[in-house]
Amino acid sequence: MPESPYPMILIEEALALIERNVQLLPAVTMPFDQALGLVLAEDIFAAEPMPPFPAASVDGFAVIAADSSGPRRIVGDQMAGYMAEVRVEPGTAARVTTGAPIPPGADTMVMVEQTEETNGQVQLLTDELQLGSNIRPVGQDIEIGQLVLPRGTVLGPAELGLLGTVGKTGVTVYRRPKVAVMSTGDEIVEPHEPPQPGQIRDANRFTLMGAVRQTGAEPIDLGIVKDKANSLQATIERGLAETDALLTSGGVSMGQLDLVKPYLASRGTVHFGRVNTKPGKPVTFASVDGKPCFAMPGFPVSALVSFEVFVRPALLKMAGHTRIYRPREKAILAHHTSHSVARTEFQRVVLTRRSDGMLLASTTGFQGSGRLLSMVGANGLVVLPHGQGDFEAGTVVEALVLGPVEME
Ligand code: AMP
Ligand code: MG
Repeated sequence: MPESPYPMILIEEALALIERNVQLLPAVTMPFDQALGLVLAEDIFAAEPMPPFPAASVDGFAVIAADSSGPRRIVGDQMAGYMAEVRVEPGTAARVTTGAPIPPGADTMVMVEQTEETNGQVQLLTDELQLGSNIRPVGQDIEIGQLVLPRGTVLGPAELGLLGTVGKTGVTVYRRPKVAVMSTGDEIVEPHEPPQPGQIRDANRFTLMGAVRQTGAEPIDLGIVKDKANSLQATIERGLAETDALLTSGGVSMGQLDLVKPYLASRGTVHFGRVNTKPGKPVTFASVDGKPCFAMPGFPVSALVSFEVFVRPALLKMAGHTRIYRPREKAILAHHTSHSVARTEFQRVVLTRRSDGMLLASTTGFQGSGRLLSMVGANGLVVLPHGQGDFEAGTVVEALVLGPVEME
């Protein structure tokens, strides 16, 4: 039997090689409202306090707390958005709306629900006036000069709002990686094409482009490439020229037309070409022109699981994320699970949380590398280590948690 020229390495070694050979992309400055999901490359400070003026937190009347309990004369209105020429003196009150500045002289806000207004006068219906109540003091939410978002923060909805608050309209973030995605194989046709005998429709490009997008990176669709050296080379070169990383599927096994690895080797450095994992043994990682190239095996589950284990952390690192690995948790196998001793296996499961807090891992059914349905609905991958045989139901193993876990 012909042997692959690439040594079989362990998953941990493969991940270390990826971490070592994948670099952070340069930072760019862009409009803050386009930066959802990106990672801050600068510290963000507040140049002004928030609120910038003492502001009413309710609709009602601005008063002086120490005044007697009798009716107060209403001296004017202060609505939100401007400074009215109203001053509160002893025995008076001003009508003020939520978010409006507190007029000079006043020190307390009384909610409109606790007042009664007649003939230009207001009577407070509460005896206990607490000095300063219902007023948000300057800087209550953000102090002037405060570090509001440190470098390395992932920008989510709250963070975008804060950038708006502090007026940081141009924000410096790590660039969103562009990833060229292609399928290879003479048998692969587009989903809209009726397959001729011997042909099948493409699954991997759509799987992988979706997975790329879920990491926050931008997939660039390079289509289906035939198992011909010249078309493969032309498409790989186009991907290298136009994007930050290359992602192929198919053509990395031991077949005569498996041309991806030899071409990557001729153009750069292949860091590994075989990993002791199931599915995904022939997964390949190379650097060409300083750009990471990942060649996924062709079987759809192998392609997606290999992406999940090896490519996702790489794309997250390129984009400046520091948490690049999925959480790993202990999980109880719900079923007897067959496993071959030779390789570390990632089996697709539905994880649920039991009332005692433990995760329960239920299989998604037949775990064939071609059966994408084994990935549908899966929110976890149980890790069955090499060196051990079958696992009895009830065994505790580790699981990669891929998504939200529901209570059992
Ligand atoms: P390969 O790695 O090219 O030897 O392909 C392994 C298996 O995966 C073969 O059965 C291929 O037909 C299948 N395969 C390869 N690429 C794709 C794809 N893009 N979509 C669906 N199946 C594929
Ligand atoms: Mg092929």
